[in-house]
Amino acid sequence: MRHDCDGNPSITNYGRGCRCELCKSIKSLYEQERRDRARKYKAENPEKEMPKKPAGKRDNPVVYADAFTREEIMRARNISYVPDREYGGEA
Ligand SMILES: [Zn+2]
Repeated sequence: MRHDCDGNPSITNYGRGCRCELCKSIKSLYEQERRDRARKYKAENPEKEMPKKPAGKRDNPVVYADAFTREEIMRARNISYVPDREYGGEA
């Protein structure tokens, strides 16, 4: 049996399988907004690709190193402020 949003239409419920009129209209609105955003972005930045959504990792099958090396962390910290003793190690 299909999922039923039970009167609470949302893109999430649509994703779960609800196909009531409200969920469908929310879905089409959502798609339309997404297209509009992409088009606007393209118009303003014709040379760029659409930035990736920083959403869930499950949408991103490309695996980067899942941890920064100590050096990378130190370097990143040094950009904004001087490391304290805990991280600096050399007082
Ligand atoms: Zn629904």
